[in-house]
Amino acid sequence: MTRPKLTDRIRRGVFLLDGAMGTQLFARGVEPGSCNDWLNVKSPDIVLEVHRAYCDAGSDAVLTNTFGANRYALARHGCADKVFEINKAGAQVARRAAGEDRYVLGDIGPTGDFLEPLGGLRADQVADAFAVQAKGLRQGGVDGFIIETMTALDELEIAINAAKTAGGGLPVFASMSFDKGGAGFRTMMGVDVPTAVSKMLSLGVDAIGFNCGTAALDEYVDLSKACVAAVRSAGKETPVFAEPNAGKPELVDGQAVYRVTPDEFTVACRKIADTGIHILGGCCGTGPDHIRTVAQMLRH
Ligand SMILES: [Zn+2]
Repeated sequence: MTRPKLTDRIRRGVFLLDGAMGTQLFARGVEPGSCNDWLNVKSPDIVLEVHRAYCDAGSDAVLTNTFGANRYALARHGCADKVFEINKAGAQVARRAAGEDRYVLGDIGPTGDFLEPLGGLRADQVADAFAVQAKGLRQGGVDGFIIETMTALDELEIAINAAKTAGGGLPVFASMSFDKGGAGFRTMMGVDVPTAVSKMLSLGVDAIGFNCGTAALDEYVDLSKACVAAVRSAGKETPVFAEPNAGKPELVDGQAVYRVTPDEFTVACRKIADTGIHILGGCCGTGPDHIRTVAQMLRH
């Protein structure tokens, strides 16, 4: 292996993740609404092409195409029995693109439902679902896990613990998705930044972050400051990561459209990096051109 340990590497300079996966798949002819995660098995070459585009753009790590590869999200596409296979294949195709020099992070997204008593999911079943996903990703050769777009503290905690126990001790990054409202930054479930950060710190994650959400570009800079401040005020040095969207989405004919250019995105990423974060990437609306421009900025 030619790459340093992931937990060491993320403390040296700014570590660059990739951008969005879904929009890149759609740009290559994949039908919106179909099961993106199943492509790891069915058409790995399309997924490989997206990963390669991000590696060529300058990403230090790619995220596996497994955001929806837990049994609950897969059940909506009729593939709940393929969790392990899809995750293992997702890790393998990402590794093919990343090679031995770049890192692969196993992407774990939410179930899309709520735990009891708010919803119908039982904690032990959710824990098992995330454990199966983490095992598949680990078998496929990931360097660590990134748990993203979480909005509820109970599901976040279950996912982190499952990735830690089933993931064979690999590093775990975790992030929640915040929106800016009248009460400041909150997740959809009402969790504020200090509460999210203190929960993640107590669970011992290796990096704490935010991703997605509907903030405008400059609001992500404020969100970043809030995350860094919350970590520091707890007396910790846990690395912080930011995966902003390409600005606020506009709804056009029912589709979310992101109009932020690579240059505008990069100006915001510079400000975000200056708040003291260690890891940068892009969420919805970002593509290889956004990542390339950020990579060039980071080199200067
Ligand atoms: Zn997003």
